[in-house]
Amino acid sequence: MKPIIHFFNSFCLLTIMLISPSCNQKLSIGIPIANLDTTTLAQNDFYQYACGGWMANNPIPSEYSRFGSFDKLGLSNLEQLNELITTLGKTEHPQGSVEQKIGDLYRLCMDMDKRNLLGTQPVQPTLQTIDSITCKEELSAALGKAMEFGLWGMYVDADSKNSTMNILNECQAGLTLGEKSYYLDKDEHTLSIRKAFEQYITQMFTAFGYSNADKHAQTILRIETRIAQASKSNVELRDPIANYNKMTVDELQALVPQVNWTTYFNEMKIVPESLSVGQIEHLQEMGRILEEEDLDDLKLLFTWQVIDGSAPYLSDSIYNIYFNFYGKVLSGKEQPSPLWKRAVSTVNGTLGDAVGQMYVKKYFPEENKQRMLALVKNLQLALQERILALTWMSDTTKAQAVEKLNSMNIKIGYPNQWRDYTALTIDANESYYTNIQYAAKFAMDYSLSFLNKPVDREKWYMYPQTVNAYYNPTTNEICFPAGILQYPFFDMTADDAFNYGAIGVVIGHEMTHGFDDQGSQFDKDGNLNNWWTEEDRTRFEERTKVLLDYFNNIEVAPGVNANGALTLGENIADHGGLQIAYQAFCNNEASKPSEQRLTEQEGFTPAQRFFLAYSHVWAGNIRAEEILQRTKNDPHSLGKWRVNGALPHINAWYEAWQIDSSSPMYIAPEERASIW
Ligand SMILES: [Zn+2]
Repeated sequence: MKPIIHFFNSFCLLTIMLISPSCNQKLSIGIPIANLDTTTLAQNDFYQYACGGWMANNPIPSEYSRFGSFDKLGLSNLEQLNELITTLGKTEHPQGSVEQKIGDLYRLCMDMDKRNLLGTQPVQPTLQTIDSITCKEELSAALGKAMEFGLWGMYVDADSKNSTMNILNECQAGLTLGEKSYYLDKDEHTLSIRKAFEQYITQMFTAFGYSNADKHAQTILRIETRIAQASKSNVELRDPIANYNKMTVDELQALVPQVNWTTYFNEMKIVPESLSVGQIEHLQEMGRILEEEDLDDLKLLFTWQVIDGSAPYLSDSIYNIYFNFYGKVLSGKEQPSPLWKRAVSTVNGTLGDAVGQMYVKKYFPEENKQRMLALVKNLQLALQERILALTWMSDTTKAQAVEKLNSMNIKIGYPNQWRDYTALTIDANESYYTNIQYAAKFAMDYSLSFLNKPVDREKWYMYPQTVNAYYNPTTNEICFPAGILQYPFFDMTADDAFNYGAIGVVIGHEMTHGFDDQGSQFDKDGNLNNWWTEEDRTRFEERTKVLLDYFNNIEVAPGVNANGALTLGENIADHGGLQIAYQAFCNNEASKPSEQRLTEQEGFTPAQRFFLAYSHVWAGNIRAEEILQRTKNDPHSLGKWRVNGALPHINAWYEAWQIDSSSPMYIAPEERASIW
């Protein structure tokens, strides 16, 4: 399990005038009427009504599996980054400077002639190290040396029960398809994916010059299925207590004796004092696999991991095989993204802070940060009011909740300190793939450099140019990078109804993650430590079960239902986000002199515009394959259901749109979720 970070996808209320830069300036409503489909009644299908125009005007481009207003902003960010990076690449820079590294990495990706000429040759040295393993005794060292073999993952992050210190964490890995159900489910769709997966492995081994490729594919599928049987599902991985198993290296040695862990950590050049094993059954099964499987089959498994991981960085012909499976079969995409987008994404992923520094300098107005900070404070105050008014929670637990809320660390725009890329080598004379290996090693060394050190609370878990936001339970922090502080989330020229409905709900969503079914198990200092009375916890779980059951009953594709357990944390966060942002919006309106309060515009009341702005964030089209993939893997509900599933639990939405029991979306008041 990776760190449980939730990506989005005492202040004087009367003195905080939010968003509106000046009372004299005329602000727009921020809502393009063309986004609506007024041929549909709001009460029949609110998502279609609010977003149908946008969806008709924005068909999915062939390279996308889902294209929504979120992705459209992502695309425009990518274009801005491309301009920054290519401008840099036009001039010479001193060897070793970040400018040289950015420019060279971009060019190495774009140079398809060189990549095609080299073919699979750049991977051969790594494959030869696997070939040269002669006995099982050599495996512990080999696994410690090569992160590409991927039987399990190792990363450094805060200790969940001692959150000021970093610790080594182990997590399950070894499944090319990620989720165990792809290997075990027997429905028609999963069977067809498994068949295509086997073909994909065969094609790859053939392209890499192996004979018996089809037999190799059977071996890979057999061993990965064995791994899948011992793996936890996406839902089981959501339990922070069950996935925290702190032990010494001696205890690890006793748990999984088939690996020589001292040799393994020596090769990694680390000396962990202790570590948390994420999934014990999985790691034990890995030990048995190392013991029971033939050495040749194990070497084949490592070879496969390396081949699959290298495919995006080699020739066109290898990439086409890769895209055909991951892009077409799994996601329904029609064609790959243009090369420049892949190049920008790679540079961004490798040197994200350096790119981010240039990005915020050019594109992030400092005044956005101040307005966001004020908005966050107002949301915090609204949530505090709501906590204190809860009828189902005792005063003891309320006091703890309020303390946690007011301890939240808030990060907006960009970090105070930027990452140092001095130790990263990007060498234009080497292949693209070799440079990707340098980058992977640099990233791993960076992660391991925090081992046994205090947690750096200034560290960001997202780049500033990213169109997203997160809550991190171990630091109790919410973070809103510069990338998301743009339309359709945030608009300095739009009125409060728009900004509270859009970015306001995003802020409320991230705050609520501190109080969802997972986040609520961490205390104000980020420790996995119960601060609830038993009765309050029971009542909380009864209340969250309403959302769990409701989403389990949503049919997302013919015969396929949403996974209420997988999406529970995100659905709680959407629900809380809407409640908190709406209350903060009403508080803010009430605090204004009456002549400055928002009025009906273009036929929509301020409250109606709040819900339209929220819905527009989720406007989008999605392919059938992608619906199925996300339903298996994505802890977020699909865009349509973040609107049509979330809003029917919000009383204010019924009032704003005068929706009554004749609506197919109607839920009786006593059956609606009511949590935060
Ligand atoms: Zn979230």
